[in-house]
Amino acid sequence: MTGKLYIVATPIGNPADFSERALTVLREVKLVAVEDTRHSGRLFNACSINTPMLSCHDYNETERIELLLGKVAAGDDIALVSDAGTPLVSDPGFQLVRQAHARGITVVPVPGPSAVIAALCSAGLPTDRFVFEGFLPAKAGARQARLQELAKERRTLVFYEAPHRIVECLADMEACFGSERAATLARELTKTYETIIPATLGKLIERVRSDENQQKGEIVLVVGGCVASEGALDADAEKTLKILLEELPLRQAASLAAKITGLKKNLLYDTALSWQEIKD
Ligand code: SAM
Repeated sequence: MTGKLYIVATPIGNPADFSERALTVLREVKLVAVEDTRHSGRLFNACSINTPMLSCHDYNETERIELLLGKVAAGDDIALVSDAGTPLVSDPGFQLVRQAHARGITVVPVPGPSAVIAALCSAGLPTDRFVFEGFLPAKAGARQARLQELAKERRTLVFYEAPHRIVECLADMEACFGSERAATLARELTKTYETIIPATLGKLIERVRSDENQQKGEIVLVVGGCVASEGALDADAEKTLKILLEELPLRQAASLAAKITGLKKNLLYDTALSWQEIKD
């Protein structure tokens, strides 16, 4: 009888988030493929999981596939975990799962923590439709180009970001999406210093720049989608509308801004309305 391949989620910080089912599966399978044996070894020790481990990471996944799926074909149940959270979510495993399906092996998900979902459900931004972008390119030019492509995306966007790049990433987001775009920084989720900051991109970058603690640890950025019906305003139009909103009611400000900028009144009205919703 062929065995099964279990894809098992592990905690993203708080060990109490380990599910009973995940613990049972990891204790009962014959082998666990892990990203880093030392890292998972510590977690497994703390949770009384004594199952043998085998490293399977980005650099050896292809060669490990034969070994791992060979064991499954011979009848062993095996599991895949990543360092934290759900395997394959910005983590290795895709080729293994794809090959398992190609060989008729049953793949069983054991769902649990993932930073993308923990951040999304606590961000206070629309969740009915969202786009997970994972990590943005590390180089500034490529990152800005990717963000430009996403500037008119209407769905909520979720990004993973390294702490040493958080300030430049927020600056690029502000430049591409505008300073009034709603966003939430979700840091150290489920851990002691868990911090969730909902703000506009403009306010968020001020906060992160002025507080070095916000530039540490593990970070997810959730960014609201483009709300205006025909796309974001450019910086000049945004400034004009803001000045008018300081003096006039929303409808009048939008109408006058439309005359000054030549943009559609609806676009300006919707944008101003979305700013007001963020503040409320
Ligand atoms: N597979 C993992 C998951 O399901 O979330 C993600 C792995 S990815 C290599 C690591 C990134 O996830 C971190 O750089 C950070 O952006 C995000 N992340 C993981 N744990 C987190 C936490 N506790 N709080 C905030 N972000 C976290």
